[in-house]
Amino acid sequence: MEEILPQLYRIVVPLPKNPLKEVNSWVLTSDDRNLIIDTGMNRKACSEVLMAGLEELKVDLEKTDFVVTHLHADHLGLVSTLVKENGKIYMGKLDASAMEAGSGWNRMADFAHQGGFPEDELQAAISNHPGYKYGPEQLMNFTYLLDGETFQIGDYTLQCVETPGHSRGHICLYEPNKKILFSGDHILIDITPNIQAWSHEDDTLGHYIQSLNKVNELEMNLVLPGHRRIIEDARGRIQELKDHHQNRCNEILAILATGDKNAYQVASKMSWDITYKTWDDFPVSQKWFATGEAIAHLVFLEGKGLIKHDSRDGLDVFSLKGKARLDSID
Ligand SMILES: [Zn+2]
Repeated sequence: MEEILPQLYRIVVPLPKNPLKEVNSWVLTSDDRNLIIDTGMNRKACSEVLMAGLEELKVDLEKTDFVVTHLHADHLGLVSTLVKENGKIYMGKLDASAMEAGSGWNRMADFAHQGGFPEDELQAAISNHPGYKYGPEQLMNFTYLLDGETFQIGDYTLQCVETPGHSRGHICLYEPNKKILFSGDHILIDITPNIQAWSHEDDTLGHYIQSLNKVNELEMNLVLPGHRRIIEDARGRIQELKDHHQNRCNEILAILATGDKNAYQVASKMSWDITYKTWDDFPVSQKWFATGEAIAHLVFLEGKGLIKHDSRDGLDVFSLKGKARLDSID
């Protein structure tokens, strides 16, 4: 447990055997209600550390509400075991409705298969997915947070900023007086937020870039992210993230310049910051994330008119349409 500012604390919750390593749980205390922003996965290693930190802070869970920046299991997983009867769970509307509607695993699996993901690996990819394994224990009642809505915890005024991209309903919280952004997985440092798409209609990367531009308008002294280090130079990091995705797009265009490919084949040729030597060595769960990320960039490039897809033998195959160069990500 670490004090960031008066009545604002961080508990670093471990994620064993997960490349993310840890999730940051942000705790705001007040005489009236407490607030916990993101929690960790629904697994023992997470709950032990989080509970110990909350005890150290003397946080009374009977007087505690939650904000979940997005629906992924490393942020939402533990909430259902912590929340008390009178506690509120705030979440962005689209992510909350997605949880209420139930899992979209079958739809994603169908689309992944169409994208060339091998049939025999699909089941393993889903059953090993942290969202499938470590999600919340039961259905919860969510209170929707909409763009611009504000609420108060002690000295802190928190404003919801909708930032679709990493997930459809991802939100950040902005404290305008102290100029702090709780960024969830919208802005991270050392690692880049995973941007995935599982349909041709869902331009998640396009939304993500728009959301980066939106947040860039805010005055930020401190960004408190969902994973890893606190960020001081928010603008610099936002520019790096935009450059990263532009480079990724150009890498994919160069891959397609060598011949038409499905999303799985594109993913297998992309460079990944991972310790495995070859694509075949990747654990199936990492192949899943990589393929989703490749699809997000392919859908984005198709929207920019640089590539197209058509169906060949039941698979979606992408090919170059214009020049193999994206000059600007905006
Ligand atoms: Zn996360």
